[in-house]
Amino acid sequence: MLDKFNREINYARISITDACNLRCLYCMPNGYVAKHYNFLSVEEIKNIVTALSKLGVKRIRVTGGEPLIRQDITEIIKTINEVKGIEDIGITTNGILLGEKIFDLVKYGLKRVNISLDSLKEERFKKLTGGDLNKVLDGLNKAVELGLIVKVNMIPIKGVNDDEIVDFINMTKNMNIDVRFIELMPIGEATRFTGVTKDDIIKYLDGANIVKIENNGGGPSEVYRLEGHIGRVGFITTMSHSFCSRCNRVRITSDGKLKTCLHNPDEYDLRPYIHDIDKLIDIMKTGIFNKYEKHTLLEDKISKSSRDMVRTGG
Ligand code: SAM
Ligand code: SF4
Repeated sequence: MLDKFNREINYARISITDACNLRCLYCMPNGYVAKHYNFLSVEEIKNIVTALSKLGVKRIRVTGGEPLIRQDITEIIKTINEVKGIEDIGITTNGILLGEKIFDLVKYGLKRVNISLDSLKEERFKKLTGGDLNKVLDGLNKAVELGLIVKVNMIPIKGVNDDEIVDFINMTKNMNIDVRFIELMPIGEATRFTGVTKDDIIKYLDGANIVKIENNGGGPSEVYRLEGHIGRVGFITTMSHSFCSRCNRVRITSDGKLKTCLHNPDEYDLRPYIHDIDKLIDIMKTGIFNKYEKHTLLEDKISKSSRDMVRTGG
């Protein structure tokens, strides 16, 4: 459906857990500390996706926390895939469990995977996340071999991993993946760090023959291809160039709230209506129509969201 600013909303990101098996310094350095695990059930996810689909949502991305820690993740993917009108399912993951789960996920309909990866150095990766880089690389390689659409999301942070930008760009030479540089957003723990903007990163491409890909399927990233590389390089420029006027998405939190903008506080509780698809549609219509025009991160330098990234799904 269209919101009041005439943007077509056809994409939803559903968070299925706030818990995670990593401890990224800018996200959840102390791990998941809440006591409640009242996350959406498969049945609740099915009803939410059914209502979203009736409102014109065609693409779903499953996120978290870390979505692959859910024991029922393949059932979730299968269920979403069976909802009429859903054409595309992706997942955003830290990749640790990807290698062991990917065959089942693909069998049940997974088409694309975004892997968050902030360092290619084993020791540094351990320090930044607490996890094992080799497991992530195993998942990444399997995803590419299986022919999934694979994006690697890297957040360059000054003095932490910005010396690896060229290494990440070089991953696109022989691998058919998108490496996307994401500007760090000042939410929660991330306010302690300083991100790197697209314009800074572009300098690393100086001298290379780069071509901007004009039709990027309507996503928020700007995408480029370097001469001789089979993969592509992209940028998500939340901090330096706003893409709100092209925003096509809403979010569902793991406790069943519709959140129409990552950086504004409005939330619509879906759980009271979770077994009534018509009522779900009604409340979603109100939320989507009233989606904020834009965030004010650039002016305020701080998110107005009441949630940090791990409780919104990134
Ligand atoms: N655990 C999964 C993962 O890491 O891909 C999914 C959830 S995680 C919150 C989703 C994405 O949000 C990750 O790519 C992560 O790097 C990103 N993220 C977390 N905090 C962020 C911040 N302050 N600014 C920008 N991206 C952030
Ligand atoms: Fe976990 Fe993803 Fe947050 Fe890292 S960014 S702590 S992997 S939720």
